[in-house]
Amino acid sequence: MRAIVLDRPGSFRVAELPDPAPAASEVVVRVDCCGICGTDLRILAGEFPPTPYPITPGHEFSGQIVACGSGIRPGLREGDKVAVDPRCTAADAAAAGPDAATCARTGARSAPP
Ligand SMILES: [Zn+2]
Repeated sequence: MRAIVLDRPGSFRVAELPDPAPAASEVVVRVDCCGICGTDLRILAGEFPPTPYPITPGHEFSGQIVACGSGIRPGLREGDKVAVDPRCTAADAAAAGPDAATCARTGARSAPP
């Protein structure tokens, strides 16, 4: 997959990275749209100390599920279009089901389509 990689503060590049494989409680999402937020800008500036460089920025995104881990229940399937809240896990979303608008664990709510 093609991704932006921040090797260190102030330095980024476009790189080809290995396609990810999902762990049991994860899904892989092909990203269609990605936001760059204030946290990403702080990471680029080196002003977010817990950052483990190198890192691919962009934790707020939407796309399509292309692979599901073995522990994902039928609430999520390959081909589903999703918007990702980084506070909620794939297991949270699978447990809530495809029509849920609220994550039971975090209380995060999705926007209406
Ligand atoms: Zn953010």
